Amino acid sequence: MADWREREVGNETRSRDINEIEDANLEHPGGSTTNRYVCECSDASCMATIRLTQDEYEQVRANGAHFAIALDHENPELDLVLAEHEAFAVVRKLPGFPARLARASDPRVAARVRVAS
Ligand SMILES: [Zn+2]
Repeated sequence: MADWREREVGNETRSRDINEIEDANLEHPGGSTTNRYVCECSDASCMATIRLTQDEYEQVRANGAHFAIALDHENPELDLVLAEHEAFAVVRKLPGFPARLARASDPRVAARVRVAS
């Protein structure tokens, strides 16, 4: 059942979970100073870190299918590069299965559902 795409998107959503925890404990909340986040690419062995301001990170997190990754870490079979910045890139999961899985596991969507009920 779990094919390679599910595993790879799973790697990205795990990194997102780590970043969500770090986002709650930022060295430099707000402003133009960057914070360290982990690369959210689909490579489970990737140990890269990227630097974004909290605002940049929040812009990525506003969409459940968007991820922040190190430059050149996109997987063309799963990711569409939306923007390349000096120190990181923003990708969107391709439509269909990868995007659905990314959205279904979005911790912020789960939080909104909990608040609503
Ligand atoms: Zn990476």
